[in-house]
Amino acid sequence: MSNEVYDVTIIGGGPAGLFAAFYSGMREMKTKIIEFLPFLGGKVPYFYPEKTIRDVGGMPSISGERFTDQLIEQAMTFNPSVILGEQCTSVEKTVDGTCFILTSNNGAKHYTRTIMIATGFGTIKPVKLDLSEASQFEEKSLDYAIKRLENYRGKHVIISGGGDTAVDWANELESIAEQVTLVYRKTAFSGIESNITKMQNSSINVKTPYTVDRLIGEGGRISTVRLKNLRSGKTEETMADALVVNHGFEIDLGPIAEWGMSMENGTISVDKKMESSIPGIFAVGDIAGYDHKLQLIAGGFNEGPVAVNSAKKHIYPNQHLEHLFSTDTDLFS
Ligand SMILES: Cc1cc2nc3c(=O)[nH]c(=O)nc-3n(C[C@H](O)[C@H](O)[C@H](O)COP(=O)(O)OP(=O)(O)OC[C@H]3O[C@@H](n4cnc5c(N)ncnc54)[C@H](O)[C@@H]3O)c2cc1C
Repeated sequence: MSNEVYDVTIIGGGPAGLFAAFYSGMREMKTKIIEFLPFLGGKVPYFYPEKTIRDVGGMPSISGERFTDQLIEQAMTFNPSVILGEQCTSVEKTVDGTCFILTSNNGAKHYTRTIMIATGFGTIKPVKLDLSEASQFEEKSLDYAIKRLENYRGKHVIISGGGDTAVDWANELESIAEQVTLVYRKTAFSGIESNITKMQNSSINVKTPYTVDRLIGEGGRISTVRLKNLRSGKTEETMADALVVNHGFEIDLGPIAEWGMSMENGTISVDKKMESSIPGIFAVGDIAGYDHKLQLIAGGFNEGPVAVNSAKKHIYPNQHLEHLFSTDTDLFS
């Protein structure tokens, strides 16, 4: 086991952690990424590899998969050390107080001057459909995330949910599926207006206030879905080959929540430097909490550089370290 000391150890290899790793390399910080999953990219490849991402500056339209490839390529520019398949579980300080020692679930130890927590919400699990028969259809015709759009080609798809993700998926599937029906228990949608307008002006059959009441089928294959009108109480049956449920996620940050940092609403409270209440431990991306926080990829792309600059200042407090532009070097030639 190596006792090599890193300047920054980034816990979590999602978009925020990957971009922070790139920026950290630009600042010539010795950088390590530790990722729990066996692959990099975080929620994007895990939940929506084929969704079209449209809200990251400079990229009008890019698939989750391609976006992840590009993020990884950029993150590897300065060759950070990458550890996959390890979950960081505990932290302590070295006896002289100059470094942190991170311990992983497999007992591995990592020595680092600063820590950047970029864990998203930790582990996230979809909220399951609350029907006793649901489990027999899972992974055959009931999905909680859309991994491959092609799987829905020519099918009658019902999407249950009314948040941004459900509306996004309905819009993505409209041109692929034979028919898309979106079932939502409320009457008013509260997500991104342009996506809702697109859905309402499309061939998507929007049913509100409705809920999925019963699944009928054989051998794991749904053939009919019973829907219930929540206003009248009446039910109706509709033919379906596939059901996609997006009722939100259960989140669990795991042991990091016990490290003693101030937390609010499941996120780590950070100051303007993206530093947590423990000096030298920073947080970026979805897990970082502050007023008016946006849990979007674009937000994490600003937080990473702020945290890296703060980490560098933490290590070298007396150096003048204002880094402004990245294009004034020939590092990339
Ligand atoms: C279905 C869906 C669609 C979305 N669409 C968009 C969109 O179009 N545009 C947009 O901007 N945002 C979108 N988002 C939100 C976006 O995915 C998140 O804001 C973004 O992924 C946050 O990045 P992150 O790096 O903070 O965290 P994550 O992407 O969650 O990555 C965190 C990583 O940390 C790892 N990790 C967790 N705990 C540990 C640990 N203890 N040790 C080691 N590793 C750990 C996890 O395995 C994970 O890989 C969407 C989200 C979902 C669920």
